[in-house]
Amino acid sequence: MLRTTLSMITFAFLVSACSQETYDPSYDYFSFANTEQVVTRHIDLDLTVDFSAEQLRGSAILHLDRIDASATEIVLDSRGLHISEVYVALPDGPMLPAEFRFGEEDAIKGTPLTVSLPADFKPNSKFRMRLDYRTGPGATALQWLPPELTAGGKHPFMFTQSQAIHARSWVPLQDTPAIRITYSAVIHTPRQLLAVMSANNDPLTPRSGEYHFDMPQPIPSYLLALAVGNMFFAPLGRDTGVYTEPEVLDAAAFEFSGTQDMLDTASELFGPYQWGRYDLLVLPPSFPYGGMENPRLSFVTPSLLAGDHSLVSVIAHELAHSWSGNLVTNATWRDQWLNEGMTSYLESRLMEVLYGKDRVDEERVLGFEELLLNFETVVPAQQALAPRFDSGDPDDFQGTIHYHKGQLLLQYLENAFGRDSFDKFLGSYFDDFAFGTITTERFLDYLDENLLQRHEGNVSRSQVETWVYEPGLPTDAPVPTSATLDQAAAMALAWSQGELGLNELPVDSWSPQAMVHFINSLPADLSNDELGLLDKALGLSDARNAEISRTWFIQVAKRQYRAAYDNLEQHLNRYGRTRLIAPVYGAMAENGSDLELAREMFGRARGKYHPLTIANIASVLQLESN
Ligand SMILES: [Zn+2]
Repeated sequence: MLRTTLSMITFAFLVSACSQETYDPSYDYFSFANTEQVVTRHIDLDLTVDFSAEQLRGSAILHLDRIDASATEIVLDSRGLHISEVYVALPDGPMLPAEFRFGEEDAIKGTPLTVSLPADFKPNSKFRMRLDYRTGPGATALQWLPPELTAGGKHPFMFTQSQAIHARSWVPLQDTPAIRITYSAVIHTPRQLLAVMSANNDPLTPRSGEYHFDMPQPIPSYLLALAVGNMFFAPLGRDTGVYTEPEVLDAAAFEFSGTQDMLDTASELFGPYQWGRYDLLVLPPSFPYGGMENPRLSFVTPSLLAGDHSLVSVIAHELAHSWSGNLVTNATWRDQWLNEGMTSYLESRLMEVLYGKDRVDEERVLGFEELLLNFETVVPAQQALAPRFDSGDPDDFQGTIHYHKGQLLLQYLENAFGRDSFDKFLGSYFDDFAFGTITTERFLDYLDENLLQRHEGNVSRSQVETWVYEPGLPTDAPVPTSATLDQAAAMALAWSQGELGLNELPVDSWSPQAMVHFINSLPADLSNDELGLLDKALGLSDARNAEISRTWFIQVAKRQYRAAYDNLEQHLNRYGRTRLIAPVYGAMAENGSDLELAREMFGRARGKYHPLTIANIASVLQLESN
């Protein structure tokens, strides 16, 4: 996933009430499932997508293994689901009604759903369980968009976002990354709409209102994904293509025209691509993240459509998850750095081959600066790559530290051992843990055995443990540099001191990343007149590149440059991706004058946002999210 950074959130509430002795880092504290007794291997879904009721309705058949013969109950995760009937059956046996009950609801985790096996149900290692159900009105994975919030304006749209623990709001299941499932699905939709899933989408499927899917590779539950809307397909290459609304299709096909090349390059760098096709789905603007690595079909934000391929590092990121995350998966959400830090590192390696070292150095520096900002706001206990994590919200527990600090650790290891040795290590890591899950501690053992002790690099296990268990950065951490960004920063200073005219800035030769750095490097004491001149000369308030807009409007809010507030509000209405808007609201909330105004703007725009984005911004603006 590629997501937001917030400077407003304090993480102190995460300090757990549990005593240190009882904390087990390999235990998933965010699932109720009794996976030590019973494990799901496969799920068959049959769901009707009802736009008028904003509801999914149908059944899920779980194929289970009883690994503890004494188990008499199965505990599943659920959130807001209405279950009408539950049946269980032995292989080839008839479906027998089973008793079920909901436990106490938890604000973060949802509600445990316990199914009792019938008394005459003899122990058997394999059985099936069918649950007839419908989703509830507050299903956190689902967003239902009315036609006016789509590009075409004529048809509704719905999509899921299951990571981290939202799959349980649309399927009753064992919602933990610790186990993997294959799945099949039949999805019923209005006839004129198309359904796609994180499965074997066929670009040539005719519109029928009934779509069949099969996902033969086992995935963790957070990668279950579905979208339904007026989507069409454009091929991008041999095994790649893009789905989106027809109004956006040409722009998307142009923006992501390098995807096949990216897939081929990634396979050369990281080993064979194991998932068949790699397609993209460009969603309506309310998609809360940059991208979501749903296997075979990454979901991405339309805010990447900059018109110049300048934001495709997000595609590199989602594609790289096909190895780190989807193929080798973090065992619990506390181990998320193994998904996100590893993926951020692979993303940079991929971008280096495809777009050159200068561009990647720019992105490394911007990531490093984001990391330093995170260290100012995230409590030290959550700054470790693998902190204690047994309460709080897996969607937001350490800003983006696990992304950037994780990437930096892997860069540090590459520097110490050389690219050849490090790449061999990564290749064997993906081979040895393919379609499996891994804890931080298992990774450390594997790293120690296969890299630290095997090759000359002078890095000890305890040095790596400093990265993994301690806050901040070790003193010998690499510091990324970029000559082009240094030049942009120097020019920001030179212009502000009158040494350089606006027309002398070589903006045409700058990347969007250099422009972002230039804006962030402007001195704090610029006058409104100076900001106005700059805005006019560089067109900042009208920038098409979403990262430039984000950076500019954060500064507009920080500096209370009110002449650009109308444009700022347009920005807040144009985009729904949390990363692009939450920090702008945050800067208004923090500037000492505009908290109320920010709340008013939020009130006007929130109907266009995803529930996760609404919750995030509500927290930034110290509001109740409901
Ligand atoms: Zn990611």
